[in-house]
Amino acid sequence: MSDAHALLGLQPGATMQQIKRAFRKLAMQWHPDRNPDPAALEHFKRLRQAHDRLLAALLDDGDDGDDADAGNAHAAEAADTGPAAARGADRWQTLEISLEEAFLGATRPVCVRTPRPCSQCGGSGIEKLSVSRLCEPCRGSGRIRGTKGLVRCADCEGRGYRNTQRCSQCAGSGEEIGERWLQVVIPPGLIDDDELRLAGEGEADADGQRAGDLRLRIRLSPHPLFRRDGRDLVLQRPVSALRMLIGGPLRIPHPAGVRTVPLEPGVAHARTMRVAGAGFPARGQRAAGDLVIELDPMLPQSPDKQLHALIEQLEVALGKSARRHFPELARWEADWLDR
Ligand SMILES: [Zn+2]
Ligand SMILES: [Zn+2]
Repeated sequence: MSDAHALLGLQPGATMQQIKRAFRKLAMQWHPDRNPDPAALEHFKRLRQAHDRLLAALLDDGDDGDDADAGNAHAAEAADTGPAAARGADRWQTLEISLEEAFLGATRPVCVRTPRPCSQCGGSGIEKLSVSRLCEPCRGSGRIRGTKGLVRCADCEGRGYRNTQRCSQCAGSGEEIGERWLQVVIPPGLIDDDELRLAGEGEADADGQRAGDLRLRIRLSPHPLFRRDGRDLVLQRPVSALRMLIGGPLRIPHPAGVRTVPLEPGVAHARTMRVAGAGFPARGQRAAGDLVIELDPMLPQSPDKQLHALIEQLEVALGKSARRHFPELARWEADWLDR
């Protein structure tokens, strides 16, 4: 008897109805909305997994084989699984995550779409007709004109009528797509092409004993402000050219919340600032990246009367020691005006 059967109090070979009934009964008892026990949520999740697994196994294999490791549906790092035991194939899927999720981590439902035998035709792709119907290709004659004269009609096998047709639900493929939802824990620090492995959520093997893993390949959603360079987080920040001259605290948007960084006084040309360790979080052997701020100087526009006067004052003051404050300008004027 499998863990999943034991958990739901079922005998091996339980039918779909029995599985559903057993789950409903236990769910009433263990649902965290009804049961104040702090362990209720975890137990409820295990029950639901067991239920999903048993049903999936019934649908997949037509028997009640089930994954032995029912409590395993949590995010697991790609780990060495030891000696290669026979098990089902791994399944790959892409998981697109936001920048915020990459920084802070998240728990998110992920839909796994699995082909399974069509529920209407049981996988045959054929549907029985209640009333026989005239075969259309041969118009009931059972024969069809080929290159070498009349031949037997393949559609009705020469009978002229048919009592089956292509299954209307699966269009004859014999398959339908089943959806399964998993709660996936996304740890902080994942970037493009990283892999998140969910043990036991891949394809079941032939005996339904040991399923493969579900391997989620991470893709970061594009962001209108930030971009990624390795583990560095890069953004462009417009800033007053005057502020760049004198420095001061500067507010910077960040996926983990706005932060204030000290802007060093310096030239008012486009320049780059780095905040060590404020890029993508460390993960395994890989250290955290930096936050790279590309400062984009902005000159003031449309001064009003008051500002006009202030700027005039500033200009006069700067002009008095132009060689220091405007070295290039002072040189140009010396070359072309004051000779
Ligand atoms: Zn079908
Ligand atoms: Zn025919």
